[in-house]
Amino acid sequence: MDGRVALVTGANRGIGLEVCRQLADLGLRVILTARDPAQGEAAARQLQRDGSDVAFWPLDVTDPATVAAAQAFVEERYSRLDVLVNNAAIYPDGDRSVFDVPLETMEETLRVNFYGPLLLCRAFAPSMRRRRYGRIVNVSSNAGQLSTMGAGTPAYAISKAALNALTRIVAAEVGGHVKVNAVCPGWVRTEMGGPGAPRSVAEGADTIVWLAMLPDFGPSGGFFRDRQPIPW
Ligand code: NAP
Repeated sequence: MDGRVALVTGANRGIGLEVCRQLADLGLRVILTARDPAQGEAAARQLQRDGSDVAFWPLDVTDPATVAAAQAFVEERYSRLDVLVNNAAIYPDGDRSVFDVPLETMEETLRVNFYGPLLLCRAFAPSMRRRRYGRIVNVSSNAGQLSTMGAGTPAYAISKAALNALTRIVAAEVGGHVKVNAVCPGWVRTEMGGPGAPRSVAEGADTIVWLAMLPDFGPSGGFFRDRQPIPW
């Protein structure tokens, strides 16, 4: 992998942790980030025990200071970032209506699920453009698909629709050498997805990792599930 470096947000558990595992298995140097240092370090140690090249860095995607610190760490330690996976998210309004979900819930959801990826793109996409290589994977959801959107989970759905829009805008800004795509992992057995979900974390991570490893002729500005394009 000629020293390729990947950073994954919200990677102490769930799909993010599995993405770190799969990218490390493919030979990338992985920066596993999490907002809770104890949980993040424990997750990184778990992968290091398997022989993976994984480093932990504390990153709360809602905190610009920790994003700036991560950017400085990447620059100092690696001098490059090849893959950014915007995975961290919250899903706080499962049973709420758009008429009664508290505004604070809407704001907090946008802060994590939309402004977080925006901050990360601002931190890392310009240097990818300069280096003429980069893969940005925004972990979205079918909940953010306008073509099928209905009532329910308004904060989460709107935040993921905004993330999809961000995907298009960043893809257009960075040009063809940097691939920027959104992905729906499907319904996955994690704390967010619950124990009844049909997919394992390995299945949920598959298309994310595929997009992270796209060849130079791969797509950009798209929305994917199961390695296939899906409607916005
Ligand atoms: P999860 O198990 O709930 O994990 C979410 C991760 O995000 C956790 O590591 C959490 O950290 C982290 N996080 C939350 N707020 C953060 C913040 N401010 N800064 C940094 N990290 C933060 O969820 P998951 O199922 O793995 O979901 C991963 C991605 O897949 C999300 O983008 C989600 O929307 C998407 N997705 C999941 C499903 C599904 O069925 N599971 C379906 C569609 C889309 P803490 O442990 O500190 O809370």
